[in-house]
Amino acid sequence: MPAPLMQIQSTPDLPAAADVVVIGGGIVGCSTAYYLARKGVKVALIEKGRVGAEQSSRNWGWCRQQNRDARELPMATRSLDLWQAMAADIGEDPGFRRCGLLYLSDDAAEIEGWARWRDMARGMGVTTHMLDAAQAADRGRATGKSWKGGVFSPDDGIADPSRACPVIARGIIAAGGTVHQMCAARGLDVSGGRVSGVVTEHGTIATSAVVMAGGAWASSFCNQLGVAFPQASVRSSIMTVMPGVEGPDALHTGRVSLTRRGDGGYALAISGAARVDPTPQQIAHARHFLPMFAKRWRILRPGGMQGWRSGHETRAKWRLDAPTPMERMRILDPAPDRRALRRILSRAAQLIPAIANAPVQATWAGYIDSTPDGVPAIGETRLPGLVLAAGFSGHGFGIGPGAGEMIADMVTGAKPVLDPTAYHPARFAQGSWGKVSEF
Ligand SMILES: Cc1cc2nc3c(=O)[nH]c(=O)nc-3n(C[C@H](O)[C@H](O)[C@H](O)COP(=O)(O)OP(=O)(O)OC[C@H]3O[C@@H](n4cnc5c(N)ncnc54)[C@H](O)[C@@H]3O)c2cc1C
Repeated sequence: MPAPLMQIQSTPDLPAAADVVVIGGGIVGCSTAYYLARKGVKVALIEKGRVGAEQSSRNWGWCRQQNRDARELPMATRSLDLWQAMAADIGEDPGFRRCGLLYLSDDAAEIEGWARWRDMARGMGVTTHMLDAAQAADRGRATGKSWKGGVFSPDDGIADPSRACPVIARGIIAAGGTVHQMCAARGLDVSGGRVSGVVTEHGTIATSAVVMAGGAWASSFCNQLGVAFPQASVRSSIMTVMPGVEGPDALHTGRVSLTRRGDGGYALAISGAARVDPTPQQIAHARHFLPMFAKRWRILRPGGMQGWRSGHETRAKWRLDAPTPMERMRILDPAPDRRALRRILSRAAQLIPAIANAPVQATWAGYIDSTPDGVPAIGETRLPGLVLAAGFSGHGFGIGPGAGEMIADMVTGAKPVLDPTAYHPARFAQGSWGKVSEF
């Protein structure tokens, strides 16, 4: 089943031309179009289904600096400020709260890893508090258990995945941009070796700048244009229980994690646990992902054929004058892993016994799209005018606003608030990933 999601109205007419067309109405595409519209750029956001309906409404809502790769930290810090400003700027609340994130553990090695990360992050201006056993027991008192230790990151928070994208999309329209749902981008027009338009199922928009923020669909789209992007998805399952259980707003443990939802219920999930559904794209890019899969094999399980059937990771080429895989699959809505859901609920009830009596409200799954090094791929491709922004690797919701602001700066040639160098996908064309020659 789909995750809860607020619905919004689209702009009635597709424009004949735009300064920038953003493809994909997830948190990355919505944020990019929002910051472009606020700069006065004529921007159109194209979404094949409903804004936010794929990964960006199916996640836990964590907006964190804690435990991020150092390359992503400046973007995470900037994003927290942007999240905070949004409600006032848009006049509608995306449900962000700086409630702090709590991590508890009985594993000395894990706690040492958090302490090392704290030391690194302190040098980058990030505050995080290591907790000894007494402090961990106090912060985690809802569990009624003793803990070896933990960490609390007071400046981090959570936003509401059921509201964030629709609220930001309304912000795009209010700032002068347009939003087009149920409108798949089939491909691009190219003239004189650079982008000249976006061909959608409802007509062509002339433009010289395109941002491909299609989440799990980005690589198959780029493949049509001869741009190779190593990307793979895994299927992660999650459930919510009804309001009424006392406990922290956001708690991670190695066995299960919980997050307070906007309605007061809890979202429950196991960090990193997922099914790997084989697809043609995954097979084609397998060598790039072997190091990551080797690190995570304990928590990943083999999946089934639903990923193959969904079409998001096809290697087939399609025509621009006939329906494409994106129109056949308006919203990727994979089936959750029933066995994983049972495990999540039983572990959550062991952590906080009141959860055993809370009625299950909803269950769903989402395909999480990743790059080989777990850091997003953001930058202009070998096709001038086409910027790729995908591969947010299971932690893109929290950094969506910072990514969108940075991309808006890149596309307009403004001095970027954040340095985009570390994100450029050309890193996969060199080095230890195996050569991606066509990037
Ligand atoms: C279970 C789960 C838990 C997670 N927890 C967290 C968390 O707590 N914190 C965090 O930061 N991140 C989390 N994530 C990851 C986060 O949700 C993603 O990294 C982020 O939402 C990716 O955003 P996106 O905009 O790149 O992609 P998406 O949200 O997937 O959006 C891409 C959009 O592009 C559209 N599209 C694709 N191709 C086309 C086309 N050709 N034409 C038109 N539209 C197109 C799709 O329909 C889709 O709506 C989690 C993810 C999952 C699944």
